[in-house]
Amino acid sequence: MSAVETSVVETVGPLVARPSAPLPARRTALRKFGALPTPSLEWNAEVERDTAHLYERVKTVVPSIEWPFFAPYVRAINAVKKERNAVILAHNYQTPEIYHCVADFVGDSLQLAREATKVKADVIVQAGVHFMAETAKILNPDKTVLIPDVRAGCSLASAITGEDVRLLRERFPGVPVVTYVNTSAVVKAESDITCTSSNALQVVESLGVDKVIFVPDQYLAKYVASQTKVKIIAWKGSCEVHERFTGDELAMIRANDPSVQIVAHPECPPDVIAASDFTGSTAHMIDYVRKHRPKRVVLVTECSMADNVQAELPDVQFTRPCNLCPHMKRITLPKILDSLLHMKEEVVVDPATTEKARRAVERMIYLKS
Ligand code: SF4
Repeated sequence: MSAVETSVVETVGPLVARPSAPLPARRTALRKFGALPTPSLEWNAEVERDTAHLYERVKTVVPSIEWPFFAPYVRAINAVKKERNAVILAHNYQTPEIYHCVADFVGDSLQLAREATKVKADVIVQAGVHFMAETAKILNPDKTVLIPDVRAGCSLASAITGEDVRLLRERFPGVPVVTYVNTSAVVKAESDITCTSSNALQVVESLGVDKVIFVPDQYLAKYVASQTKVKIIAWKGSCEVHERFTGDELAMIRANDPSVQIVAHPECPPDVIAASDFTGSTAHMIDYVRKHRPKRVVLVTECSMADNVQAELPDVQFTRPCNLCPHMKRITLPKILDSLLHMKEEVVVDPATTEKARRAVERMIYLKS
């Protein structure tokens, strides 16, 4: 069981008011690439034949009655992707028909950020939330980056502004700022280095200092503080999906089935982490299940991840609870197709912010493991 000792030295809250809406999308991509006609979205024998190999991947989690709705979109998206020379980056919280049937690269934020540095395509479609699309844009300023629904935000990203980070630096002069990637480009630009839940501890310790400012997730900060001697000044942000889990509900599940494995994300509160058998980023959670093949497991995170791993490992039984992320769920097959056909919504980050934010993200990506 993971023990959690809270050694965060200070947690500070919002210092200024914060409207943190994404930058308004512009229509330059449409002018550059032009619109494509909407392909047929009819379900017929040809579509069934062309998508049969993809249905094989998801048949344990997508009922056959739903496939005639998804399949025409899957076929159309895969065809339009080629025509646009586009790739789709999909986060582990995307639904199985996106994750297994149209994505070119899947993973957690760190894996997607790394893939974004290697992309050869002209267009990147981010099947995830806005800060992820911004990260892809920061790493590929010359490529067109699209997000199928610009309203796909994140409670962590909207918990802090660039102005907050500047005020934190004034209050704690000389203390470096480690910023979780779940933040806007503007916040990254004010930071020394970014981190993900995969590498947060490594990043904090890489700085060789005895104190860091860690924003914006208070629970990830507590988790990191429990594993290091570095003093952490945390911020009062949280993930609205992971903070809803409780240690009590996990204790009840374990009481009903002592053999169940409980695997939690470090954005969860400390009592949830204390009640779990393993804590790690979404990529590490998936690796844990692949390696240990538990008979029954609870993935204490967003619901679609269990579906995506279930499709790959049908012999493992995934037990609820899980919570849906309303922002991730804004991304759907119809919106991805619309995004590719009409080149929307284009993600725009101004050059000065891109330059500064890229330094913080690349410092993380190229950190020696
Ligand atoms: S799951 Fe939480 S951290 Fe991830 S996008 Fe949703 S609100 Fe943000």
